[in-house]
This record gives sequence, structure tokens and C-alpha cells, in this order.
Amino acid sequence: MADAKVMKRTALILGVSGQDGSYLARLLLEKGYRVVGSSRDAQMSQFSNLIRLNIRDRLEVASASLNDFRSVLQVLKKVRPDEVYNLAGQSSVGLSFDQPVESFESISIGTLNLLEAIRFLEAPIRIYNAGSSECFGNTDGQPADEWTPFRPRSPYAVAKAAAFWQMANYREAYGLFACSGLLFNHESPLRPQRFVTRKIVHAACRIANGSHETLELGNISVERDWGWAPEYVEAMWRMLQQDAPDDYVIATGETNRLEDFIESVFTVLGLNWRDHVKISQSLLRPTDILTVRANPGKAAEKLGWKAQYRMRDVAQMMVEGERAA
Ligand code: NDP
Repeated sequence: MADAKVMKRTALILGVSGQDGSYLARLLLEKGYRVVGSSRDAQMSQFSNLIRLNIRDRLEVASASLNDFRSVLQVLKKVRPDEVYNLAGQSSVGLSFDQPVESFESISIGTLNLLEAIRFLEAPIRIYNAGSSECFGNTDGQPADEWTPFRPRSPYAVAKAAAFWQMANYREAYGLFACSGLLFNHESPLRPQRFVTRKIVHAACRIANGSHETLELGNISVERDWGWAPEYVEAMWRMLQQDAPDDYVIATGETNRLEDFIESVFTVLGLNWRDHVKISQSLLRPTDILTVRANPGKAAEKLGWKAQYRMRDVAQMMVEGERAA
């Protein structure tokens, strides 16, 4: 009988210090994987999310810069993973308007370097790539599914769209087991504060503690599909366990206005948001997506994955996480 140790699978998570990387590392450790996580500079990175989840000591870390082909090749040769999850790269839509080249290089060139390195090694590595619902742009109120055309509206989304097609092309042309997840927004207490949900939760909790500040926001009538990050990483893993590689929309299927999210957060804290929020024109984006709608039906049918938590649960759990930190 095969030794359990010999059977242990190895996962390499590129971008392990981020929100999704940390939750995915925890999930894969629970599933018995050997987990190696990369950061651009593993010696300097604090890995505070891994520490917060109490798993820092349970995984190995390595330095890898996706922009640098040699560095990607080196980490793959050293780690010899069975599965690679590419969650690294510039992840802010807002920041991508200020740093479009950085966005494109870290997302598109980064994904291409990864695919080329895996093709070069001829190793049977399964790859998950973090795609994004931002690729869809405005869908005129129609729910986006895996067949919906891309109409990206930010440098970030353009870069994610290019990476998506690189994945599809390497799957078709070279038979790589390459999957993209078109994930809609997913949140948690590990979300950095530059993201609007965390910014709202952080400020609302300070206000509830007596701060007299005013929370400044951009367009609060935008509509999004917000889910709970810890359960979205399960969908990533499930994609790589299928018989054949494919792409999947991952979302709750419920759309809410940002204003509703704000209201939920302040209500949890016993506050009226209208007393504390100001709209600032300077925070409006050059182009934005007004409404998103998602159809995660394929993930439910093929992966058996369905979001358990909706926007109001997410708001509540983010407030609880903020207060416990
Ligand atoms: P985070 O920003 O939390 O983590 C991304 C990680 O990538 C960072 O920890 C960082 O690690 C690394 N990184 C950041 N900037 C760069 C860069 N310029 N070049 C290379 N690496 C960089 O993102 P999330 O965990 O929220 O998201 C994971 C992936 O999923 C990202 O690709 C994101 O775009 C995508 N995504 C996220 C969604 C969400 O709602 N959270 C929705 C759809 C897609 P280090 O500094 O250690 O190198």
C-alpha cells in the first residue's frame, strides 16, 4: 500500500500573503497538502495574514517575482508542485488607473511567464489563475456567465482579460490543465484597507468607538455581488480536482448597491450611516462599472459549489472581525 507521505500533494500559492492566498493556504493545509507560498520578497514580507490565521509556521515560503521568468522557473523547479494557484499581482482596480503598466506586467506578463515556465518544464502541473468579474464590464443588467463577452473598463480588467485568454490558449494549444476563476468581489477582515468594503468597516468601527471623523466615499450607487472570501478559495481548489480543466464564474448570484453595504455595516454598529458619510467627487474613477450581475450556475452544477454567505452576512462578519482584531 502506498505510503500516505508519498501521496502528499504539494501546492504552490503565488501571492500567499494576500487575502485569498492566506485563506487558500489554510484550506489546503487542512486538506493535508504540503503548502509553499510565494511573495515577491519572502525575507522582507511580514506575512501578517498568515500569522493572523495562525498558520505561518505550517507552510514554507519562497521568493518569486512573476515578472521575472527565471524567478518563476526557479521556484517551480525547487518546489515541484502538483498544483499552482496564481493569486499574485496588482489587485486594485483603482490603483490600476495610476499604475497601468505595473498592473499589466504583474497580471498579464506574470501569467504568461508562469504558463511558459510550466510548458518548458513539461511537468503535469495543474494551474489555477485568478481571473476577475471586472473583465465583463457593464453587462446591461444581464447576469454574466462563462459565455458573456468581455468589455473591460479599467487597466486592471484589461490585464485580467489578457491573462484569461492566455490561460485558455495554453489549455487548447498545449493541453495544460489550466483553469481561470472569474470571481466576483469577495471580502473578509483580511481585505486591505484600500478596498472600499474594508475602508467602510474600518471607519464605521472607529466611529462606533467615538471617533468624530467623516467617511469619504466615491460613487455609492454602484452595484456589486459581494461574497465571503474563505468560501471562495474552496471553489479554486475544486476547479483543480475536476477531470478536465475549465473556467468558472464564482459569485453569490445576489447584487446589492454599495449604499446597502454601507447601511448594513453601520446598522450592525447601531449607527445611521447618513450621519457619517460624505460623497467626494475626487474619489470617482475615470471609468467605473455601475451594475454587475452574476450567474454562478455552472459552478453549482459542475463543482458542487454554492456561496453560503450573502452581502449582509459579509458586512456583519467583517465588523466582527474588525472588532476582534
Ligand atoms: P491581495 O492584494 O490581497 O494579494 C495579492 C498578492 O499579490 C499580494 O499579497 C502581493 O504579495 C502580490 N502582489 C501585489 N502587487 C503585486 C505586483 N505588482 N506584482 C506582483 N505581485 C503583487 O489580493 P486578493 O487576495 O484579494 O486577490 C487574489 C487574486 O484574486 C488577485 O489576483 C486579485 O486580482 C484576484 N481577484 C480578487 C478579487 C477579490 O474580490 N478579492 C476578485 C477577483 C479577482 P507580495 O507583496 O507578498 O508579493
